[in-house]
Amino acid sequence: MSEIRRDPLRGHWTIIAHARGKRPSDFTRSAHATERGKVCPFCPGNERLTPEEVMAVRPSDDPANQPGWSVRVIPNKYPAVQNDLPERPIETGGLFERVPAMGVHELVILSPEHDRSCAQLSVDHWNTVLAVCQHRMHELWRDPNTQHVALFMNHGPAAGASREHPHMQIVSAPVSAPVSDRMLTSLRAHYKAKQTCMVCDILQSEVTQDVRIVAQDKTYVTIAPFASRLPYELWIVPRAHRSTFLSVPAGDRRRFATHLRDIFERLTNQLGNVPFNAILHSSRPGPDDPKAPFHWHFEIAPRLAELAGLEWGSGAHINPVSPEAAASQLKGDAPK
Ligand SMILES: [Zn+2]
Ligand SMILES: [Zn+2]
Repeated sequence: MSEIRRDPLRGHWTIIAHARGKRPSDFTRSAHATERGKVCPFCPGNERLTPEEVMAVRPSDDPANQPGWSVRVIPNKYPAVQNDLPERPIETGGLFERVPAMGVHELVILSPEHDRSCAQLSVDHWNTVLAVCQHRMHELWRDPNTQHVALFMNHGPAAGASREHPHMQIVSAPVSAPVSDRMLTSLRAHYKAKQTCMVCDILQSEVTQDVRIVAQDKTYVTIAPFASRLPYELWIVPRAHRSTFLSVPAGDRRRFATHLRDIFERLTNQLGNVPFNAILHSSRPGPDDPKAPFHWHFEIAPRLAELAGLEWGSGAHINPVSPEAAASQLKGDAPK
């Protein structure tokens, strides 16, 4: 039985996913770091090893769950949330708030090629991946119980990836995400004071100062954020104010694919094949709420260092690489 519990003191939610049935030894890094030599269920020809696909991009008359696809979406075999939980009363308002972990957990296998990294996928291919993600996220938002849909990627064991084969994950949940809630609180306060979107204002200041810009084009800007928690943390921010990634039209989506691929290439060129997490921050589909002007963006966080006691206990991070130095390096400036 999976359920989502709220910490009454700190406000975070935790998915208690006991059904995943892990033992303490399963959590050691080496237990899931040594996948080499094992059969990869995400590779073409091994489709029978995964749950039946939700959708795949393949020639239209090819049968499902067979090789020939270029992007494949499957239910996660070990979901953090599930749609077939027995109905349970929701307990809210007390000290121990809990809701059943109802939702959908899908994996988007980025390409048939096991070793093709994010930097090696073509712009066309990224565009297809992003279109598939938009489509699936729209579908998950159709459930009236959905309060949050996360799109994220873990790459490398240090970033929590249990499979090497590049894939993204989509998770819908019946509660909103605390990180999104905190951003909305800041955006609302800023809007109340200035009647502008804080992210638009940050972007404008960053472009003017030009000390933390990694790359920019007509549609997107990548910055190393001012208070980066991790070395080489990056935000890809669209110049156009739009609350949700889900309404990004095809032309801008393709430009995002171009920009995203460029950023992955820069990271690979400068840092090598580093583990990273990437996550989309986006509001639900629908028109912008002018009083809560969310501004979608995409965050990439290389995981070069483990979180230690100070970070875990206090939320204060120690970042040994200044965002200005990170931006300069990734931008390709001459070393100073
Ligand atoms: Zn594979
Ligand atoms: Zn904005």
